[in-house]
Amino acid sequence: MQTEKVIVVGGGAAGLMAAGRAAEKGARVILLEKNRTIGRKIGIAGKGRCNVTNVRPIKEFIDNYPVNGRFLYSAFNRFSNDDLYAFLEAHGVKLKVERGGRVFPVSDRAADVVECFEKYLEKAGVKVLTERKVEGILQSGGVVRGVLCEGVELRGDRVIVATGGKSYPKTGSTGDGYAWAKEMGHTIIPLRPALVPLNIKEEWVKELQGLSLKNISATVFYNGKLLGSEFGELLFTHFGVSGPVILTLSGEVAKISKAGRDKGELLLVINLKPALSAEQLERRVRRDLEKYRKRQLKNALDDLLPQRLISPLISLSGIDPEKPVAHINRAEIDSLCKTLAAMSMTIEGPRPLSEAIVTAGGIALNEINPQTMESKIISGLYFVGEVLNIDGYTGGYNLQAAFSMGYAAGEHAAETLLFNQG
Ligand SMILES: Cc1cc2nc3c(=O)[nH]c(=O)nc-3n(C[C@H](O)[C@H](O)[C@H](O)COP(=O)(O)OP(=O)(O)OC[C@H]3O[C@@H](n4cnc5c(N)ncnc54)[C@H](O)[C@@H]3O)c2cc1C
Repeated sequence: MQTEKVIVVGGGAAGLMAAGRAAEKGARVILLEKNRTIGRKIGIAGKGRCNVTNVRPIKEFIDNYPVNGRFLYSAFNRFSNDDLYAFLEAHGVKLKVERGGRVFPVSDRAADVVECFEKYLEKAGVKVLTERKVEGILQSGGVVRGVLCEGVELRGDRVIVATGGKSYPKTGSTGDGYAWAKEMGHTIIPLRPALVPLNIKEEWVKELQGLSLKNISATVFYNGKLLGSEFGELLFTHFGVSGPVILTLSGEVAKISKAGRDKGELLLVINLKPALSAEQLERRVRRDLEKYRKRQLKNALDDLLPQRLISPLISLSGIDPEKPVAHINRAEIDSLCKTLAAMSMTIEGPRPLSEAIVTAGGIALNEINPQTMESKIISGLYFVGEVLNIDGYTGGYNLQAAFSMGYAAGEHAAETLLFNQG
């Protein structure tokens, strides 16, 4: 049986920060990562640009976790978005702030963030062991004793589990931590996809694959009841819809599907011109029709809409696309305007968990000390990052949460360890 002091399981955002901070605080730290390299998910975050955090003030920041945001107050107080910003810049990653307060490396390279952590861990003296799959956690009498890794028992006085969620499993996040936590008496809140694209029933939607719409508003209704509404960008795909507004709305849809209530009608309604009132929209449509009054309707809407949307819009409005504009009547103009403001499609459900940006659900937070991330059930055992029952919206909130929780746990593990040694 080998002896190590702080063992960190998982080299994602949470584990990397936990390991680095514990070592910086003077602990002997070993990081075990099953992949050949660390930070695989960081490397693909933000479409390879890595939206590391957001500059919003703390109160607004917390509002970007649909449930349980308050759990993060202590971790953010200890290591805030400003602290992360300063940390990355001090370690050579120059940052910039984009629309919505999103923070990215100036280089637009997520790989720079991963490299920064490689150097940070090396300098802090963390022993990083890759291609080491942990198989279980060792404990006795309610105290953690170490981990089982590749058939070898590795002793540690503190174990920080940072194995991530269960989405994008090719990055290594296969949900291993949930089973260990359950075995040791923790409650697992059922997993479901969060920030996930949606399957849509109608064929015309799938035919728009690749088309992206900016500045639209999207609203989701369940049996006529409004579930949520978002403004921004939407992307059509071969299965339905994705893009920022859809990812943000998807949490509500996933809840309905998980509860088995998806027998009712789930509708996605898109307003293509949300900045215009009904009167303004009608004036706008009439102006265009006037301008192109010698054309057929299908050739008269180019100023109003992307080319590929024209045919579905006319068809949903129930008008003959070949009809000369001069013959379009009042009712047809009404119908066109209504469809522009409320293009409706049927949601079949969210894409699977494996395709979600984040896993919702996970280890119950009332069993974790929010100041230290230590388990309230097993002493010396910590859980950090996506493995916990917390998930944020898009905008840098998930990585910040992982980094802050990792920091809090790493610091506490090292401090209590050194204190106990006298
Ligand atoms: C495509 C995509 C884009 C994203 N973009 C952003 C973004 O721009 N901004 C943002 O804030 N969030 C983003 N996210 C979410 C964010 O990346 C995650 O929430 C965050 O990385 C979670 O960090 P973590 O450390 O908890 O887990 P992970 O990053 O998942 O790390 C877990 C690590 O543990 C390792 N591991 C698992 N089991 C074992 C085991 N048994 N033994 C050893 N090692 C193990 C895994 O290999 C992995 O390296 C994105 C997610 C995806 C999928």
